[in-house]
Amino acid sequence: MVPHYGSSGVPSIIGDAVWKTKLTMDVFDDPDWDGFDGKGARANIVVNGDCDPGNAKFVYPIDTEDGPAGSVVICPKTSTQDYSSAASLDVVAHEWGHGVVFNSAGWEYITSTNAALQEGWADIIGHEVEWRKEGATSSDPETEDWNYDEDSGQEIRQENYDDGQYVSPDTNPYSYHASDTCPTSHGHYCGLRMAVAFWLAADGGTDDGLFENVNPVCRRDPDPALADCDLEVTALGTWAATRIFLRILMAVYADSSSDWHDFAEYAKQSAVDICGAPFPNCDNAADEQDTVQGAFTAIGYPGPTPLVRYCNPDCCPN
Ligand SMILES: [Zn+2]
Repeated sequence: MVPHYGSSGVPSIIGDAVWKTKLTMDVFDDPDWDGFDGKGARANIVVNGDCDPGNAKFVYPIDTEDGPAGSVVICPKTSTQDYSSAASLDVVAHEWGHGVVFNSAGWEYITSTNAALQEGWADIIGHEVEWRKEGATSSDPETEDWNYDEDSGQEIRQENYDDGQYVSPDTNPYSYHASDTCPTSHGHYCGLRMAVAFWLAADGGTDDGLFENVNPVCRRDPDPALADCDLEVTALGTWAATRIFLRILMAVYADSSSDWHDFAEYAKQSAVDICGAPFPNCDNAADEQDTVQGAFTAIGYPGPTPLVRYCNPDCCPN
């Protein structure tokens, strides 16, 4: 089945970009958050014939060469593509994800750490929207998965990569764990550890001896073994994980001073908000807190208080 995004030129790229934007905004809909900026801003899309073929971008106020601030730019297909993969759902959602990150935590895209946080969170949002909105079909490239930009047929980012290495390990090895160095200042590779935490929270992970579903850094052949590879993470499912992770941004748990060491705490608080229940039904979402704690521990960021679990007011143990 031919992909339906941008298969016959610019008009269908526009149609697809608008439709994928609508699907993305549906997923962002939250009692405390409206649109990509939290305030219901118009979602402007620019289809730009001059930008890098195959690319897409969110336009920050400091760089408005390709479009107005706060818009998403979709570039044309490459010369070897039959369609514009830049108008596929995970790419469009990733770019609007930058809008969510910019308008919530607001890390300035000026350091390599901030670039990794921006790209990691944008990748999570791309995955979240794809898993929420794309149905599993056997023949359509637009199927939910743990690859990013796989429809381009070119460079992809993958959370559950079989050997924990990028296809070009000398130049761009993926960074799945705090102990991995970031090979370049390019946030896409170091940010992968964030998406691994999300994948583990959604799908679960355990070392069953087959390395089926663990942090992919554990699939390498380290000696001595890397820490935490025997950690068990109980799956929450993609939608529960999505709501918990989005709330880290949308409830303003994360701000511009937050870094990798903070997210385990925020995720546990968010799990209580999303999955718990206040008095008199009292549910402190202990299982969900265990999962997100495990997911961040697995990537090497257990946070300052990995044994702490949060509780609803009036529902805390004595
Ligand atoms: Zn990005």
